[in-house]
Amino acid sequence: MSQPLLDVRGLVVEYGHGRDLHRAVDDVSFQVPRGGSLAVVGESGSGKSTIAKALVRLVRPTAGSIVFDGVDLAQLTDRRLRPLRHRVQMVFQDPYGSLDPHLSAQEIVAEPLAARGERSRRVRERRAAELLDQVGLPTSALHRRPAEFSGGQRQRIGIARALASEPDLLVCDEATSALDVSVQAQVLDILAGLRRDQGLTFLFISHNLGVVRAVSDEVLVLRTGRVVERGPTTEVLRRPREEYTRQLRRSVLEPALISGRKPRDLVRRIAAARTAESVAAA
Ligand code: ADP
Ligand code: MG
Repeated sequence: MSQPLLDVRGLVVEYGHGRDLHRAVDDVSFQVPRGGSLAVVGESGSGKSTIAKALVRLVRPTAGSIVFDGVDLAQLTDRRLRPLRHRVQMVFQDPYGSLDPHLSAQEIVAEPLAARGERSRRVRERRAAELLDQVGLPTSALHRRPAEFSGGQRQRIGIARALASEPDLLVCDEATSALDVSVQAQVLDILAGLRRDQGLTFLFISHNLGVVRAVSDEVLVLRTGRVVERGPTTEVLRRPREEYTRQLRRSVLEPALISGRKPRDLVRRIAAARTAESVAAA
């Protein structure tokens, strides 16, 4: 067995202090093999984003280890962490907030290349164009600014920018949650393709148990900062052990279920699924 790319053990993250102390992540452990994809699902406030932020040091862990490629990131000073930072990249729910409105798509994607020391402007521009092409944006997109793109296109720019840093691990925090169902499927396709073709490793965070199946083989279910269930995604979807997980599943309208079906047919199928579930739960 080779060492997992990411090995998180006993992770605890607390916010505030004294009477305001709040434990957002409580003793969470998981591993992601190189080239693997782990999904973290849970209701709003369950601690998903806090885990993501701890991985990229947007918050400091209170306890536990975050061993990435053999190095415990939790123990590193900011200075020691710096050369490793590019290897773990985040894709956020709303890239709009993090895309500089004054820059063109090409400039946005070229920025991390400059930060990593690529001094030739022409090389940066060419590489940025390649990356935008890779996420399915046309050449005509190169010189447009964020406001001129749709939500799905902006998310593609956010992914291209993350790729510019040549990461090993991509942490996607609700990366498709704000998108329409059909656009969501396109972005999921891009992410699945990156894993398949480039061997990228994924931590895929979502409140939607339905979308994780497209991109993750394993899932970890989080509730109030604790892991309540984990296993192969298909297993957890088919036979959730916890009522909490069943609830998550129930609130999901799967893209595959929706596409190509008439609304009335869809309503009937969902009703049937719910009945089957309540029978199974009884
Ligand atoms: P999720 O991403 O699953 O919705 P979060 O990780 O954002 O959950 O939040 C987990 C818990 O931590 C919630 O109770 C939230 O209110 C709290 N929390 C998140 N960020 C902060 C913060 N900066 N300060 C204090 N509490 C926070
Ligand atoms: Mg969140």
